[in-house]
Amino acid sequence: MRWAVVFGPPIALAIVLLSNRLVVEVQDHTALLALVDWSGHLATGAVVLLALASLGVAWARVPAFVIGVLIGSLAVDIDHVPDVVFHSQSFTVGTSRPYAHSIATVVALALIGAALLCRPDPRPGQLSIGLAAGVALHLLRDAAVPRGVGLALWWPITERAVQISPAVYVAVVAAAGLVVWSALAGRAALRRR
Ligand SMILES: [Zn+2]
Repeated sequence: MRWAVVFGPPIALAIVLLSNRLVVEVQDHTALLALVDWSGHLATGAVVLLALASLGVAWARVPAFVIGVLIGSLAVDIDHVPDVVFHSQSFTVGTSRPYAHSIATVVALALIGAALLCRPDPRPGQLSIGLAAGVALHLLRDAAVPRGVGLALWWPITERAVQISPAVYVAVVAAAGLVVWSALAGRAALRRR
């Protein structure tokens, strides 16, 4: 696991930067675009989880939560299926991306997760809260796609597309990586004493 902590952040940042570059080049090739884009999404989820674990956030070591974050960082793209496979725009009328690409999905999953946490088995609740966090990270990346179309973050309140600077998203990933490395350096210094 130690190798993942040492090499994970720079690898994740490299994947994010590369996928940000390539995503513009492969816009017209759906399969390639999905591969490149999902690599960036997965790398984002992984490095944020490592950062949370480095900060001592107990949930970052809860398997159901971790699985939820990784799945959520990809699975929300399932709402593209009606358009890409069946050429139906019924899930994206008036919006730049399908409706599930909205803060409403994050809130719904978090609320379901909070309700499920009351049950004797907390894992479904942990999974749902992980999914909410993963979708939130997915939305961050989608909103920052270079030369992208943004997303209707506040749907159904408004269909207005929200677009942020790619630099903001890259800075978040880089900051997560720095958190991991500084925690690692801190532990190494403690061991040397
Ligand atoms: Zn997406």
